[in-house]
Amino acid sequence: MHIDPRSDRPPISRLTLQVTDACNLRCVYCFSGEKGCADTFVSEEDFGYFLGFCLRNGMRGIRLTGGETMLHPHLHRFVHLAVQVGMPVHIFSNFTLKDCLNAFDVPGKALSFLVNVNDRDTYDSSAWDNLTKNLELAASCGYSTVLGYTVHEVPFKIPHIMQLAAEYCVQKIRISPAKPTIGAGKNRWLKSDEMRAFAESAMQLSQELKSVGRLLVLDCPIPFCQIPQEHIHFFTKELKLTGKCDFGTSVNVNLEVGHCYVTNSLLAKRPLSSFRNAFEMLDYKLGLVRELDLLYPPLSTCVGCRFLAQGVCDGGCYGTRHQAIVGREVSHD
Ligand code: SF4
Ligand code: SF4
Repeated sequence: MHIDPRSDRPPISRLTLQVTDACNLRCVYCFSGEKGCADTFVSEEDFGYFLGFCLRNGMRGIRLTGGETMLHPHLHRFVHLAVQVGMPVHIFSNFTLKDCLNAFDVPGKALSFLVNVNDRDTYDSSAWDNLTKNLELAASCGYSTVLGYTVHEVPFKIPHIMQLAAEYCVQKIRISPAKPTIGAGKNRWLKSDEMRAFAESAMQLSQELKSVGRLLVLDCPIPFCQIPQEHIHFFTKELKLTGKCDFGTSVNVNLEVGHCYVTNSLLAKRPLSSFRNAFEMLDYKLGLVRELDLLYPPLSTCVGCRFLAQGVCDGGCYGTRHQAIVGREVSHD
């Protein structure tokens, strides 16, 4: 295992692999936008290489994502292999494929899911039926599950997701404000003037969930000045709001290391095989952040802001900063 000489912990503890860019849905907020997907699938050999890299570097688990992850024909084998060598697996999925959990044969604690759920009226009856049956099976197998919702319109309410959480014993709901994706078609995202309504809806949802013993978590940073100032305390304390991008490292379907969907089209990617260890990968990642910070420095409106001075906000997601600088290029209007 390679230890970062500047700390006593491995530099990257979990790595995400995009096993396919194919998807059975076309969500309006998705990064792939109108371009659609190319339907590429990671080979077994590449998965083996990825897993070996994670093992050699002492990682504590892997995340598998898509597209729709469950479309990969060998996913069950990948999960089996990873768990066999002691690597827990976390899968991102929309759970709408029929019986997609049936072939998993690993202990409950080794496998977990983030299930992305859309607005209720976007599902036909068979997709909804598949989703609920898969959630039922996940619960009965002891797989830990979080339900995710990407907020792309405000105000928002998600009673159908709350009902799913109650029915299938899901403790956590994760919401993400939809972000503008740089250079990838026209996906729908939340604009700055929609963030007040987002904040009001999120607060209400958090309180409703709390009253029934469940938890709301927030994904992705939001500039602090877009949250009504009277709610900042609630957001930082209860929802752990941050105004800074804290990205992970992901490996795409071509086994290249990159940043995130929002920024990937901007930056040159490096093959996974070119990294000797995860420490080198960390250095590469920090280099990407420096590059992004040069491209998208905090806005002139941030100068003198107390949140910038306190180091808790620097303008948030690079997609949001991009939108603020060259708005019309990525506008969905
Ligand atoms: S640092 Fe910039 S984006 Fe963040 S709260 Fe201050 S002005 Fe807003
Ligand atoms: S740029 Fe950062 S904040 Fe924005 S989507 Fe990517 S990881 Fe999240």
